[in-house]
Amino acid sequence: MPPPKNKVAYLLQRMAQGVYAHDRENPTHHTWGIGMAHFDIERLGLEEGEEILPGIVLQADGGGTGQFRILCDADHDQEAVEEEEEVIDAVSSEPVHVTPPRIEPPL
Ligand SMILES: [Zn+2]
Repeated sequence: MPPPKNKVAYLLQRMAQGVYAHDRENPTHHTWGIGMAHFDIERLGLEEGEEILPGIVLQADGGGTGQFRILCDADHDQEAVEEEEEVIDAVSSEPVHVTPPRIEPPL
């Protein structure tokens, strides 16, 4: 069954809002992508690597499903990340914001 078009439209809207909120809070950051689980990309009929918003590329980031993550070129300390948790889940569950993939053990 193809994904409902309105769901993708809603997702794009939430992504645009998430990017906007992020960039407003972090004007010195450069947002370059949206991270989603590969599973979500597939089930939404999207394509990894596609420019999903102007200047924003969709990345399979290995993160949780039901969420998307704003990918920027800067580090976020814990405080900043928490402030940005209003970034809404597009697909179904919890909102998350993370910086680009970093392999580091949690503190
Ligand atoms: Zn950022």
